[in-house]
Amino acid sequence: MNGNTDNTEQIDLYGILGVEKGASKAEIKKAFHKAALANHPDKVPEAERESAEIKFKAASQAYEILYDDEKRQLYDTHGMAAFDGSRGMGNGPDLDDILNMFGMGGGMAGFGGPGGPGGPRRPRRSPNEEQKYEVSLEDLYKGKTVKFSSTKNVICSKCKGTGGKEDAKPKECATCKGQGFRQVLRQVGPMLTQEMQECSACGGAGSVYNPKDKCKKCKGKKTTEEKKQLEIYIPRGAREGEKIVLEGEADQIPGTSEPGDIIFHLAELPHEVFQRAGQDLSAKLDITLAEALLGFNRVVLEHLDGRGIQLKHPKEPGKILRPGEVLKVKGEGMPHKKSDAKGDLFLIVDVEFPEDGFFSDPQAAEQLQKLLPGPPPPIMTEVADEVQYDEDADIEEFGHGEGGEWVDEDEGGQAQCATQ
Ligand SMILES: [Zn+2]
Ligand SMILES: [Zn+2]
Repeated sequence: MNGNTDNTEQIDLYGILGVEKGASKAEIKKAFHKAALANHPDKVPEAERESAEIKFKAASQAYEILYDDEKRQLYDTHGMAAFDGSRGMGNGPDLDDILNMFGMGGGMAGFGGPGGPGGPRRPRRSPNEEQKYEVSLEDLYKGKTVKFSSTKNVICSKCKGTGGKEDAKPKECATCKGQGFRQVLRQVGPMLTQEMQECSACGGAGSVYNPKDKCKKCKGKKTTEEKKQLEIYIPRGAREGEKIVLEGEADQIPGTSEPGDIIFHLAELPHEVFQRAGQDLSAKLDITLAEALLGFNRVVLEHLDGRGIQLKHPKEPGKILRPGEVLKVKGEGMPHKKSDAKGDLFLIVDVEFPEDGFFSDPQAAEQLQKLLPGPPPPIMTEVADEVQYDEDADIEEFGHGEGGEWVDEDEGGQAQCATQ
C-alpha cells in the first residue's frame, strides 16, 4: 500500500461532482444539489444507505472545497494534500450540518424551494452551564436553601427568536454566504488543516436582517435578558464535588428545542476547626497539662450547628491523656444524606504546656518535682561531653545543613547503593 498522501492526491473532486475542471460556481452548486439528492441517506433503501452516505459525504466535501475560491485554488495546485492528507476523505463536517446548511434538515422539506438560507445545525438542547459553588462545612452539616437572582437569556417573546420583524425576510449573510460558519485554513506544522469557525457577522445563523427589519425588542439578537429568582437546596451531608442541577435554567438559545441545565458543583470550603473525611470529622482537642494529668469536665468545642460538645475525662480515675491520643465520639460526624445516621468525630489530643517562667516559686517547683515521676535511669558511658545547643531549631533544617549536597549526589547514584 502506498502512503496516505498518494491516496488523497488521487481524489478527483471534479469527478465526484461530475463537473468539468473549469466549471463555474453555479455549475458546482447545481452538481452538488443533484448528488446530494441522489445520495441522501433518508431517500435510499436501507441496504444502500451506507454507500449513499459515503457518496454524500464525498460530494459534500468536494462542494465545500470547490465552491470556495481560496480552497479551490489550493486544491488545484496541491490536490487533497492541502487539506489534512493524513485523514483524507470522510473528514468533512457532520452530515447533518451539511443538510441543514442547505435547508435540508427535517426530511429535506426546504430543499429545492425558494432557497432561504438555513442556519447550521444546532444541538437539540442548549449547553449546560456548569459552575462551582463554594459551601461552608456548617452549611453542609445543616443543609441550606440558597436563593439568588440570575440573569438568563430567553428567546425573544416578540420575534419568537427570529430576530426580525414579523413580515421581514432575512437575507443571506454575505460574509459566510449563508453557511453560518467559515472554513479557515490553518497551518499546523507542514500541514494545512481546515477548521470550522462560527461566522461572526451573523452569529452562525447564516442570515441577517436589514437594520430596519430587526426586531425592536431584542434588536435582532433573538434573545432578551430576563431576571429570575432561582433557588437551590444543598442537602445536609452533601459532599465536595456533588452536583446540584437546576433543570432547564441555562440560557435559551435560538434553534434549540429546550434549554440546558445549570449545574452547580459543590466545593467544600476549608474549616478552621474541623477536617472532614467522608462522613467523619476530626478536630484538635486542646487541653492543659493539668487537665491531661488530672482530668476535666467541660465544653471542649463548638460543633457545626452551634452546640457545645461537653466531655468528661477520665472515665475511670487515674487515666492520663497524652498528646496524639485520639478520642472517638460516635455519631457526632457529618450527617448521612438520606438517614438520621451520622459519622463519627475524632478528637486528637494536644496538650498545652504552661508558659515559660510558670514555676517561679522554687518551693512549688520542688513540690511538683516530688509529685511527678523521677528522671529515667542514667545512661552509663565512659565519657560524657556536655554540649552546646540551639533552643529554637527547626526540623526543616534537618538534612539541609553544611555538606547537604551529598543528598543530591546520592539520588543520582542509586545504582551504586544498590550494589553494596
Ligand atoms: Zn426579538
Ligand atoms: Zn454569516
